[in-house]
Amino acid sequence: MALGEFELIGRYFADIVPTRSVAHDTARQGIALGVGDDCALLQLASGQQLAVSADTLVAGVHFPAEADPALVARRALRVNLSDLAAMGAEPLAFTLALTLPAADEAWLAAFAAGLRADAEHFGIGLAGGDTTRGNQLVITIQVMGTVPIGQALTRAGARPGDRVLVSGRLGDAAAALAALGKPGPDLSVCERRRLHRYWLPEPRLSLGVALRGVASAAIDISDGLAADLGHILARSKVGAELEPSRLPVIRDDDCSAGQALDRALHGGDDYELCFTVTPGRLTAVSALTRQLAIPVTDIGVVTAEAGLRVRTSDGVGPLAARGFCHF
Ligand code: ADP
Ligand code: MG
Repeated sequence: MALGEFELIGRYFADIVPTRSVAHDTARQGIALGVGDDCALLQLASGQQLAVSADTLVAGVHFPAEADPALVARRALRVNLSDLAAMGAEPLAFTLALTLPAADEAWLAAFAAGLRADAEHFGIGLAGGDTTRGNQLVITIQVMGTVPIGQALTRAGARPGDRVLVSGRLGDAAAALAALGKPGPDLSVCERRRLHRYWLPEPRLSLGVALRGVASAAIDISDGLAADLGHILARSKVGAELEPSRLPVIRDDDCSAGQALDRALHGGDDYELCFTVTPGRLTAVSALTRQLAIPVTDIGVVTAEAGLRVRTSDGVGPLAARGFCHF
């Protein structure tokens, strides 16, 4: 690289630290030592557990190689934050491992600016990382968050009789894929909205925190509702019955009702939360989601019988999981 490795790190990644730093939040603590040493040091307040998750985005697989670097950076951080949200954890710090075909300064400047904007917005600091040269652009972000000991939401607690709920609306991100390569002037209003939802998913962090002690199980929807709810069911050793007519589907003029439903059930990348609660807690959930101004929809029920089924006016039938699978 023409630009030296350490110069590159110093110029673009040395001080991505939010002004609203959790270093001053004594209830959770933060980055005691950041970029520049062999390791970062994170300080955890007593009574807190560290929630850790990583996601890799490969150019040409997870996003078009020529995509806007600022959007690539922001999406990479947001999909990781979504995993913290699904656990009921709050952002503390993240690391960034970058493999770059070349040290393209214009690309790096835009990427770092996007990353800085969202790090500031979500109050999470860049604690360290690794920078290497390789044939393919690969971005790995690891997020670390805090959650009071024993209060993390997991996939394992759903019980028969629990209601299945989902936040927001489903299907936009999957519908965006068809518009990804289109030149700007050719985009319709609904294609713009879909692309916005694809590139800038909203990690449901406040909802995750509010669901601590309320939800029996939770997951974020990265691979499609059916596939991801399937993970809750497998880990909880239960099944579920969904009512497709209740799904918060986005139906535009350019697609059929069937297509919209298919995207809501099987399309990925929406990063909404799917969670389960006992029926007795539904009122509490509506109160807290109204307060957070996050729409939440009751879409079905957990059953003792394994597997995912759908209930329509014709009765109850099986639903084959069809989420995105890498292999
Ligand atoms: P080492 O050789 O000890 O692993 P490096 O030379 O890889 O350290 O990195 C030097 C410092 O820069 C470390 O503190 C590391 O965390 C940080 N760093 C390297 N790459 C990045 C990056 N892409 N983003 C943030 N910090 C980085
Ligand atoms: Mg290294």
